[in-house]
Amino acid sequence: MIEVKNISFCYPNSKSPIFEGHNFSLKKSQVLAVLGPNGSGKTTLIKTLLKILPISTGTIQHSGRCSYVPQHTASPFDYTVREMTVMGAGGQHGMFSTPQKQDYLRCDEALEKVGMLSFAATSFTQLSGGQRQMVLIARALVSNPDIMILDEPTSALDYYNQNRVLQTIKELANQGKAVIFSTHCPLQALQVADQVLLVKKDQRSIFGTASEILTSRLLTDLYQIHIARDHSFPREIIAPIYD
Ligand code: ADP
Repeated sequence: MIEVKNISFCYPNSKSPIFEGHNFSLKKSQVLAVLGPNGSGKTTLIKTLLKILPISTGTIQHSGRCSYVPQHTASPFDYTVREMTVMGAGGQHGMFSTPQKQDYLRCDEALEKVGMLSFAATSFTQLSGGQRQMVLIARALVSNPDIMILDEPTSALDYYNQNRVLQTIKELANQGKAVIFSTHCPLQALQVADQVLLVKKDQRSIFGTASEILTSRLLTDLYQIHIARDHSFPREIIAPIYD
C-alpha cells in the first residue's frame, strides 16, 4: 500500500539533509509507528509521504487516498467543531462542494467516536490543545481514507484519550486501512504497531517488526536514556528509567 525506497530530503536553506536512506513498506491493515527524538525528522518525513515536501532522492509509491492528522492546526476562520469536522468530506466530493446530510451524519458519528459530539457547536478556536487534536482525528475519519497518517496524535492527550486514539488506530487497521503514526511513546508502538521505524538525525533509520525493533538496546540508543522493556509484568511494558 505504501513503499518507500531510499528517500532523502533537504530543506532548501539547509546544507545537510534532514534524512537519508529511509526504506520501509506498509501493507493494507498494517500499522507503522515512527519513533525518534525531537528534531529527528518525523514531521518532515510525514510531509514527504504526503507530498507536501518534495523528496531529493528515492521513490515513494502509494495506492489509495491519504488523510493527514497534523500535530497542530490554526483555524483561519471561526469555525465550529462540526464545520471543521465535516470538511473531511471535501476529500471525497471536492473541497468546494457543500456537505450533504449524510456527510453531517458521518461527521457526528466521528465526533461521537472521539468524545467530542457535545462540543459540535463550540468554536474550534476555544478548544484545548487535546480537544483540537481529537477534532482533527474526527475530521480525518470523515474523509474515510485508505491510508491514515497521524503526526504525534496522542501528544496532547490524557491517558483515557490516548487509549481512545490507539483503539481507533487498531479499528482502522482492522477495516483494511494502512496507518502511520509518530509517537514519543514506545509502549504505544508496542500496543498497536506491526512495523516500527526508528529515526535518528544523521543516522540510517532502522525498520522492522515491532517485536524486533522495540528492544531496550535500540530504544536506549535512540533516546540516550535507559529504556527498559519488561516481559514479566501482567502485560509487556516499555518505560524510561529517569536519572
Ligand atoms: P521531529 O518531527 O522529529 O521533531 P522535524 O521534522 O519537525 O522533527 O524537524 C527536523 C529538523 O528539520 C529540525 O532540525 C528542524 O529544525 C528542521 N526544520 C523543520 N522545518 C524546517 C524548515 N522549514 N526549514 C529548515 N529546517 C527545518
